[in-house]
This record gives sequence, C-alpha cells and structure tokens, in this order.
Amino acid sequence: MTIRLRDGVEITLSDGTRVVCDADDPDGDVAVVTHAHGDHLPDGELTAVCSPLTAALGTARREDPLHRTTDDRVTLIPAGHVAGSRVALVTDPDGTRYCYTGDTSPRSRDYLDGFDPAAAGDVDVLVTESTYGAPGYEFPPHDAVVKEILTWLAETDAPVLLFGYALGRAQTLQRLAARAGRRVLTTQAVLRVNDPITDQLGVSFDVTEYDSATHDLGPDDALVLPLTSARADWIDTLRDQTGALAAGFSGWAVKDSFRFRGDYDAVFPLSDHADFAELCSLVEALDPARVYTQHGETTTLATHLTRRGYDATALRPGQSTLGEF
Ligand SMILES: [Zn+2]
Repeated sequence: MTIRLRDGVEITLSDGTRVVCDADDPDGDVAVVTHAHGDHLPDGELTAVCSPLTAALGTARREDPLHRTTDDRVTLIPAGHVAGSRVALVTDPDGTRYCYTGDTSPRSRDYLDGFDPAAAGDVDVLVTESTYGAPGYEFPPHDAVVKEILTWLAETDAPVLLFGYALGRAQTLQRLAARAGRRVLTTQAVLRVNDPITDQLGVSFDVTEYDSATHDLGPDDALVLPLTSARADWIDTLRDQTGALAAGFSGWAVKDSFRFRGDYDAVFPLSDHADFAELCSLVEALDPARVYTQHGETTTLATHLTRRGYDATALRPGQSTLGEF
C-alpha cells in the first residue's frame, strides 16, 4: 500500500486502486469527500463517495455540482465535525482497514453526533487530522462554552457581530443567538448553507437575511458572519456606526493571537475539532498498527504518538509512504 499527501490524501490499495480523499483535483479511481468545507471540496464538478448532505452542501456552496456515489470499499461514519461530515473507512482487498478522519470531533452537540471510534471497528492504518495536535490546545467542555456565550449575549447591551465559519460555527451561533432572545440576521453565504441542513436534518434557523445597504442594527440584533469577513472595511464602518461588538468563535481562541487577528471584543473557544487530548484519545481507542498525521500540528502529534509507542509519521506533501501489512 502507499499513502501519499497531495492536494488531498491518496491511498493506493494492494490491487492498484487509488482512493483519493478531499482533493482539489481527485484523479484517482475512487473519490471521497468527507465534508463540505472549502479546503475539502474539489475545484470542479465531481462524483464522489460522500454523505447526501455533503453532496447538497458542496453543490450549494460552489458553481459546480457535487454528485454522490457509493463504493463497496468505502464506509462512511459520522465525523462529528460539521453537518454531513463523515470519517471514511476503506477496506483493501487484502483485508487491511484504513481510517481517514478528514476533520473530526468526538463531542456530540446540538444536532451533531460526535465521532465514536467504536463505530469504526478494527483499524490497521489511521490517517488523522492534527489541526490542534499540540499540547496547549485544550478546549473547555462544550456546555461550558455554550453557557459562557449565552451569558455574554444576555449581558451585552449592544448589537453583536458573531464571526464563525459559514458551515459549522455559523449555524451554532444562529441557534445560540436565537436562544438568547436576539433577532438573528445573516448573509447569503450562510443562508446557502442553512437550507440543505434544514431540508435534510430538519434543523430550523430563526433568521432573517441581512441587507447591508439599508439595514441598521438594533441593540437586540445579532449578525452572524463568515469568519473571513472579520477584517473587511464594511465591518469597521458598521462597528463605528452602530456600536456593535464583535466576537470571534474558534478553537484558535485558546491563543491570544486570535483576538488580535480579528480585532474582536470577545473570543470564545467554540470548536468543531478535537483538541489535543481528544486526538490522543482517538488514536488510543482505534489502536491502529500505523498512524499518519496530516494538516496542522502534524510533526508535534506524530512525535508525541511515537513517544507513546505508536508507529506514527507526519505526512509531507508529495512524499509517498510505503508499508506492508
Ligand atoms: Zn473542516
């Protein structure tokens, strides 16, 4: 078998079949898309093994459709990351079982089931994300973060701008702001993501489209915006004109630099990823013969796992890793 990090992760099975996961340009025999975040979606039209919701989200978020297919060699189980996200389990004809996590969280929250390693069964080779794979990335319990956010929303007597990824955090923030009794507004980029989630999961969002041309913000309003717009010029103007406070929501909030990067008044460590301890627990529970780390703190996590007795390697772009089982 070969595992190769390209624009996604490519697993070559013993019969030569190439399974390509989360690539911009998957030119293998089987394409897998674990979830509909931009860095996991293909550039053009594609037919891939994915969940029905990921296909709908991938189609809604881009100009090119994402079509869903199935493949006997690939099983998908909930990844706990965002709506529709899946962990891919790939079975080689020689019996070797691969687990490719994409992005993952073990925490069940609101309408998401956390990733449960027991559902993966026996795993020989694990390819795990390592976004927060370093000591120091420790997220408080989800309920504690939610409580902190609801308290801040209740005690803030001003309009609020809530920044999070359009798929994932933005839905959580819309629901929390509504729970806190605020009128919730958001942009097309987020509404486009809401619709398939409502259609397929029956999750409702009590939200109005924000019209930046005419809309003023009142003290009870919460405007949910994609994280990428935090430093846009119109946000500065809006904050000046309305006295709105800006809050950023991300696992990166455990580091001081996150607050300054977005010029936020408040930050909350609301994450859709596993933290460091949770990544270590995931590996321990799956107990694979070999681990590959990819994305984020790849070297730190691989080094830590090696010290704990695992055969762990950080995947490097373009480098192939060969192995026998
Ligand atoms: Zn993601």
